[in-house]
Amino acid sequence: MFPRIVICLLLASSAFAQTDPVQSALARPDVKSAMARLDERRPQILELWKQLTLTSAPSGHEDARAALVVAELKRLGYANAYRDEAGNVVSAPIAKGERIVAFVAHLDTVVQPGVKVAITEGRSESGKLTWIGPGVGDDTTGVTALLAVAEAAQQAKLTLPNIRWVFSVNEEGGGTSEGIGRFVKDHKAEIAAFISTDGSPIDELGAVADNGVGAYPVFPVFHGPGVHTIESSGTPSTIRAAAIAIERIYRVKVPQTPLEKRSWLNIGTMQAGTVPNAMAKTARFTVDLRSNDAATGRALQAKVKAIIEQAAREAGVKVEMTPTRWGRDPIILNTPEQKRLVETLWASYRALGVMPQKGKIGSSDFVIALRDGIPSAGIGLTNIRRMHSPEEEAEVDALFLGMKEVLLAAVALNSR
Ligand SMILES: [Zn+2]
Repeated sequence: MFPRIVICLLLASSAFAQTDPVQSALARPDVKSAMARLDERRPQILELWKQLTLTSAPSGHEDARAALVVAELKRLGYANAYRDEAGNVVSAPIAKGERIVAFVAHLDTVVQPGVKVAITEGRSESGKLTWIGPGVGDDTTGVTALLAVAEAAQQAKLTLPNIRWVFSVNEEGGGTSEGIGRFVKDHKAEIAAFISTDGSPIDELGAVADNGVGAYPVFPVFHGPGVHTIESSGTPSTIRAAAIAIERIYRVKVPQTPLEKRSWLNIGTMQAGTVPNAMAKTARFTVDLRSNDAATGRALQAKVKAIIEQAAREAGVKVEMTPTRWGRDPIILNTPEQKRLVETLWASYRALGVMPQKGKIGSSDFVIALRDGIPSAGIGLTNIRRMHSPEEEAEVDALFLGMKEVLLAAVALNSR
């Protein structure tokens, strides 16, 4: 009897190791050593984070930050780290026929060119140490985390031949993800899984976004006579039309629950007129409307358009709504590979004592890969508040857990 039990146990444990790559990763001495390294190197990692944040990288102006990342990768032994034609930094070349897993952070921020960036320390509502400054979180935390994990793995002699650390350009700017579009196009056949470690849409440690949110933008332009104030009595006003429309649009009920139908509406910009003493010939604003559900998103968009048309009629002006290039239905991938990827990301968070949750919005670099049928997800590495504002705030300690999530998931996905 006894030997048979031993054999059964052995079989059970090897089966366990195969089906639970996260647990087997956790048990490896090299993984433990890399984990410890992340904590030991805290001062240097914080210094790197600071340096990256202060090297401002508005979309389209990422060269200085990209140079810093390439230099750091080369220092870590990635002798063939390169920038591709779009400007993305990739840790090592990808051979045709190879199967790789891409961990991606975006280099660019929404900080305007020329704006001087500074970091101050703060405290979150729950008293946790935070860093505050434009672009400090989104996605400088992701860039820092990938470089820190690459260093820790290298130091622990933990080889991850299938992993590529990728630093993309032009992620911000309406969800077009122009930089990563090129990377995905070039390596579509080679990318087995794609994970973006983005602060922006999934702003919490533990969040895993696994679908692309639908975008239903509406960009109206009202046209009217641009006459002088003296001649303006009774003349239709484009600004009045815009004001009527905006007020009504904000009354539209936007579903918050259930998550499958959750939607968002924001009027992010408005412009009208050129001088104070004449009517505005044109008035325009932008409605950024998003939804996790196609039918809901389309219905909301139709409602917003009807409101705008009605407002134009009431004010007696013309309106046109030009289609924008970034409207699309939600992207959902239902494959066993996608399920496995998401499960691995959830299991890695759980192993670290972090409660995983479904990401709030899925609009980031990973959506570009998801659209091409590549198993893809976005993960949040720390808690970020006031995203895209000059007072953007990122939690410091949570980011170290976020790094460990990247490390564990990379080991688990590399070994598959
Ligand atoms: Zn982002």
